[in-house]
Amino acid sequence: MPKHIVSGLKYLESVELRQRGLSQQEISDEIGVDRSTISHYLNGRNISPGSIEFAKVILELSPKDFILVSRALFDDFEEIRHLISIFNMNHYETSVDDGCIGCGLCVDLCEVKSISLDSLKAKINPQYCCGCLMCVEGCPTNSIKILEA
Ligand code: SF4
Ligand code: SF4
Repeated sequence: MPKHIVSGLKYLESVELRQRGLSQQEISDEIGVDRSTISHYLNGRNISPGSIEFAKVILELSPKDFILVSRALFDDFEEIRHLISIFNMNHYETSVDDGCIGCGLCVDLCEVKSISLDSLKAKINPQYCCGCLMCVEGCPTNSIKILEA
């Protein structure tokens, strides 16, 4: 994992959460980084300007590119969910129509595990959906709609 890029993203998460009033301990708990590292981030230590700039570029990518880069950076989908949630990328309305045949392809395609099968029909939880549209592109029956809210 390119640690300097991940550090840049964690730095940006820390700054964003601090601006929302979270304490260093709360930020530590939220993003899974020890408190002393959070302190260093917030004081501008141990983080290179290049890492921060690169992280900003990742956050400005299209939703699909953001997902593709993030899954290469993180082993854990929860890390991607944190980014989506903290940076408010999750403004999408989702639906699955009656054409769904319950094949499960979309479940496998969603990198943030927002889709599950319920009684052989796909069900989407929009909480962490960032609009990457990989489920839409992969659905053989065109049953999924993802619209900006
Ligand atoms: S890929 Fe399409 S048909 Fe298959 S489970 Fe998902 S919504 Fe249903
Ligand atoms: S658009 Fe589909 S694949 Fe992408 S995050 Fe949303 S539910 Fe998952």
